[in-house]
Amino acid sequence: MDMKILVVGGGGREHAIVRALSRNSDVKLYSVMARRNPGIAQLSEKVLLEKETDVREVTAFATEHAVDYAVIGPEAPLEAGIADVLHEAGIPCVGPTRMAARLETDKAFCRTMMEKHGIAGCPLYRVFHGDADGACDYIDAYDGDLVVKPIGLTGGKGVKVMGEQVDAAGAKEYVQSLGGDVVLEERLIGEEFTLQAFVDGNHLVPMPLVQDHKRAYEGDVGPNTGGMGTYSLEDHLLPFVSRVDYEAALEIMRNAVAAMITEGQPYRGILYGQFMNTRDGPKVVEFNSRFGDPEAMNVLSILESDFTDVLCRIVEGTLSQAHVKFAPKATVCKYLVPEGYPEAPVAGSPITIGDYGDALLYYANIEEKDGHLSTLTSRTMAFVGIGDNLEEAEAQAEAAAGLVRGGVWYRHDIGKRAVLEKRIAHMREIQ
Ligand code: AMP
Repeated sequence: MDMKILVVGGGGREHAIVRALSRNSDVKLYSVMARRNPGIAQLSEKVLLEKETDVREVTAFATEHAVDYAVIGPEAPLEAGIADVLHEAGIPCVGPTRMAARLETDKAFCRTMMEKHGIAGCPLYRVFHGDADGACDYIDAYDGDLVVKPIGLTGGKGVKVMGEQVDAAGAKEYVQSLGGDVVLEERLIGEEFTLQAFVDGNHLVPMPLVQDHKRAYEGDVGPNTGGMGTYSLEDHLLPFVSRVDYEAALEIMRNAVAAMITEGQPYRGILYGQFMNTRDGPKVVEFNSRFGDPEAMNVLSILESDFTDVLCRIVEGTLSQAHVKFAPKATVCKYLVPEGYPEAPVAGSPITIGDYGDALLYYANIEEKDGHLSTLTSRTMAFVGIGDNLEEAEAQAEAAAGLVRGGVWYRHDIGKRAVLEKRIAHMREIQ
């Protein structure tokens, strides 16, 4: 029987969602994107452009095509209440309500919720509302480095870390520029990892651990980006995260889901936990209310279960571990980005793609006209390599990315064993 699914979002993450759904031949896909992603468009029956956060238009489109349920990729439509409006129209949604999405969209809510419910892994923090002077005094009085976070959404680029990106004077200047609407929190030292999970309101089923690379340049230096690439390992764990740390992170996520029920805001969708593995175990850097981009590309590329069934179970509330299986494979994702990215990206450069073999190609922010591809100003496209181990996966992604010609570049170091060894050594050093 045909199933109609609406997917909102037009990046690499959503291309991975759409491709995973399209493996079920009974599915018809309807896509909403800010601008046309050629990979998504090719797999969709119909597309709606430029309306990603226009929740009424999206709901009208979903109703017109009588979709069975909707999947929301990015955070902005969730913040605009897309799940609530779809629900009112009788369309179930994989993605939390506006109130539940505050786990991501309101950093003050996230931290106070964790504290109120006694959830482990919450760093020392302080919330300021329109109080730049109070926040600056706090920075002056605090013994150590702090992190300045705007309270609202920033596309992952709004955080300033003292001792890394700014000194105390720079942090105070940043606080002023944000009008004093900030969360200040202790700077965590350790190694970051991502734990994503499917959540049906009650039950949580984890996906393989992934490590992202936020910094623009090789060696993890330079400005923060949306994410330059990611890897995951064949055992679905990471060597600098012990079993005990992994279980602790999972417990934090489960407790967050339970707390949202107590808050009267059950969480349904994808829950993304960004953790810093510190000498005191995993701490929560942030929660996101959707898949990570690029992390979605790693995990969905090796999902063996029928993705449509997993999502159906999320909306029905019948999810369990037995329904979710990932292949025991390593993955490496490398994002190609336009020249000058992230500070002065050059749009309009023509690109050609070579024979990428068994690697998977996911389109992101790219223009296709008369069969010709060219860059726009955000991340262009990504290759995912899959292998029995990291070396195989990395070699596949690297070979594919290396054949692209035109005004794009990428980080060669992502997924290299040497980078992983450095992280293991760092983790040992801070113990
Ligand atoms: P976020 O938008 O909260 O994910 O933050 C973006 C990046 O800033 C994270 O991936 C971390 O690298 C860094 N960051 C955020 N919070 C902290 C923290 N409390 N300590 C150290 N680094 C942090």
